[in-house]
Amino acid sequence: MLIASQFIIFITRPNDRRHALPADDETRIQAVLDRYASDCVTFHALRTRQAGRRSFMSVHVLVPGSWSVHEGHAFLELVERDLRSAVPSATVFTHLEPIEDAASFADVALER
Ligand SMILES: [Zn+2]
Repeated sequence: MLIASQFIIFITRPNDRRHALPADDETRIQAVLDRYASDCVTFHALRTRQAGRRSFMSVHVLVPGSWSVHEGHAFLELVERDLRSAVPSATVFTHLEPIEDAASFADVALER
């Protein structure tokens, strides 16, 4: 039941800012993502949500398709650790995608 409710809260339109995290939280989140971004790594589809005292964020992480599952997972662990530090007690969801695949960029909107 708890898991179901966590996913349900993300079913909102991307431009719906009514329940997003406060701007200072999002500034700290963006600073983490900027720190990890490079010529071969980028992020998109960042969504945040405040539900009572709980904070949630979801972001797509685009990395080289040549990375192994081990490399991708290790990278996500670092990003997620720093995102949780930026917004303590936040629940973080990441979605790994190959940066070379055009399909990776076709999923920014939830409605597709
Ligand atoms: Zn994506």
